[in-house]
Amino acid sequence: MEANSSGEDCCVKVAVHIRPLIGDEKIQGCKDCVTVVPGKPQVQIGTHSFTFDHVYGSTGTPSTAMYEECVAPLVDGLFQGYNATVLAYGQTGSGKTYTMGTSLKDGCQTGLIPQAMNALFNKIETLKREIEFQLHVSFIEIHKEEVRDLLDPSLSNRQEMANGHAANGHAAKVNIPGKPPIQIRESSNGVITLAGSTECSVKTLKEMADCLEQGSLSRATGSTNMNNQSSRSHAIFTITMEQMRRLPTGISNEGSLNDCMTEDYLCAKLHLVDLAGSERAKRTGSDGLRFKEGVHINKGLLALGNVISALGDEKKRKEGVHVPYRDSKLTRLLQDSLGGNSKTVMIACISPADINAEETLNTLKYANRAR
Ligand code: ADP
Ligand code: MG
Repeated sequence: MEANSSGEDCCVKVAVHIRPLIGDEKIQGCKDCVTVVPGKPQVQIGTHSFTFDHVYGSTGTPSTAMYEECVAPLVDGLFQGYNATVLAYGQTGSGKTYTMGTSLKDGCQTGLIPQAMNALFNKIETLKREIEFQLHVSFIEIHKEEVRDLLDPSLSNRQEMANGHAANGHAAKVNIPGKPPIQIRESSNGVITLAGSTECSVKTLKEMADCLEQGSLSRATGSTNMNNQSSRSHAIFTITMEQMRRLPTGISNEGSLNDCMTEDYLCAKLHLVDLAGSERAKRTGSDGLRFKEGVHINKGLLALGNVISALGDEKKRKEGVHVPYRDSKLTRLLQDSLGGNSKTVMIACISPADINAEETLNTLKYANRAR
């Protein structure tokens, strides 16, 4: 039994989302092998039992409860200047994209990202008389330790090219000559920025939703041409919000938000991450103290497991144990939004089908290690 009691002040919260059996699984006659203990955030599979902060079962669409409990506090935190990260983890097909709401086919509105965007704009609406807001979004993908800009305007041309030339079998990925690779930079005060990726300034919910859709589309297009890249890459949608308290009328308020150096200025970002499929992690003995690196193992998932586990260990944290952020692009990029004052939620997505039992158990073990 790996049962664990729930830790109140842990800096990483972990929820499990169990999707229903889907078409293919039903056709194959799969049985449901995951049980939720009634009234408790506890899941059982075989002889194993795990307790998390929240468990969302496969009946009904718990999307509003999941949003309210897992993501709403992070969106509220943004208004106080706290960075935050939401991570969807799980094997390919477990429902990560569905949960985050980046899939174009699954009527986006119920996913966590569309709900976060809605809540954000509703809240801005109530505050905009006193506070001036500036919002930016970026949407990138990390594949084999390379960062790809999903909002790159030239990608839409490539998409057209890809569609036009699909028949001759040429891949759509064309590296534009002269375009420098995207780099992750850290400023002297620890703020992480991406140099060279598109930052879209958005004023309305519609504009933000358009960015989400455009990026999702370039991701999907990439995947059909690149050996299902999307299951092996991490997609990171980032909302950056700057706030400046408006001065009472009569006092001039010149310059850009950045020039304002009073405590009336706040900047925070929310990363919404659809992680690469975790299925390769099984070769590494994911229940071990430290993930050992296999030949094909996803570097980001490995490093993330180690970072989150270091953050979750109160004792280690107090002793100032090294948190291995630098081990992958993913953890490097999220460095200022994982741990410290930032809030992190990991949503472990699982299939209830018996054919996936082994991967499901791996996912639950990984998630369990995160708390
Ligand atoms: P992943 O991104 O982890 O590979 P997807 O989000 O693409 O997985 O989900 C795989 C399939 O399962 C999709 O067809 C999706 O529509 C379906 N699915 C996932 N989660 C749910 C859910 N909670 N309810 C109904 N269908 C779901
Ligand atoms: Mg997906």
